[in-house]
Formats: sequence, structure tokens, C-alpha cells
Amino acid sequence: MISEELFAEVASRGQSAFARISIREGLNFDGAIAEVEATLKRKITLNRVVDTIDWGRLTGYLVSMRSDHIFTRARDPQMYQEYAAFHEIGHLLDGRSSCSAAVRLRLAVVNWGYIESAGGNPDELLDELVAEYVAHLLASAVHLPQPVSELAW
Ligand SMILES: [Zn+2]
Repeated sequence: MISEELFAEVASRGQSAFARISIREGLNFDGAIAEVEATLKRKITLNRVVDTIDWGRLTGYLVSMRSDHIFTRARDPQMYQEYAAFHEIGHLLDGRSSCSAAVRLRLAVVNWGYIESAGGNPDELLDELVAEYVAHLLASAVHLPQPVSELAW
């Protein structure tokens, strides 16, 4: 079970990471990437990977926090690939860890009990939850017509 304290920390870090970029009405995916690039002062390259037979439930990853390459599974629907990229951008904006051990950690986001039973690092899970929080805010900013000020968990 995820505690209210953990959710509060996720929300605080997630909102801080999201606030680093400028969001405007009518923002699309490419515009969001451009805003992230301007904030991070790095060019982000999206790589659509075709050979993903060994990815399992992995949907995307960064090689490391120093990497400018985000990898997504080419056969996933475009909107899902964008969400996977937003998750990786969440890591970059949060500035903590990436999900290079993503198979285990993405499963952990889905099921808190999984990471506990697997002896996983709770700090890594927190980083994953923050990345998901930022991804949700970015996807909402791009796809929902509501004012950005109303975006929150
Ligand atoms: Zn992650």
C-alpha cells in the first residue's frame, strides 16, 4: 500500500519537475519536447525500436541520465509511445535516476507489492512514481482541453 506521505512527496517532486518547463495552450507533443530541450539545454532524440522481442513489458527507457536518447517500442500505438517518452522526460526533469532497470521498476509502479517482494529499492520506486506523475501532467497538457492550472492528481 502506498502511503499518503509517499503520494505527497511524489506530487511535490512531480509538480516541481513539471514546473521547470513552460506550458502554453495548444501545446502538442513536438512542442512539449521542444520546451523540454530548451529547459534542459539538450537535444532529445526519440528512437523507435523495432526489435523489442526481449523487452517484456518495457515500454521505453533512457540509457542513463546523461543520455539524450529516449527509446520507445515502435509497434506501440503512437499515443502510448508519446506517454513512454513523457515518462523518460519525467526522469530528466526530476533529475534523479532513470529507469535503466526499467523492466523491474515499471512493473513496480504497477504493483507496489512486487518491488517489496523483490527486495527492490524504495528510492527507485519513488523516482518511478515521480516520472509517472510528470508523464501524466505532460500528457494532460498536450491532450486535454482544460486549463493547465487544473492539472493535478
Ligand atoms: Zn522510469
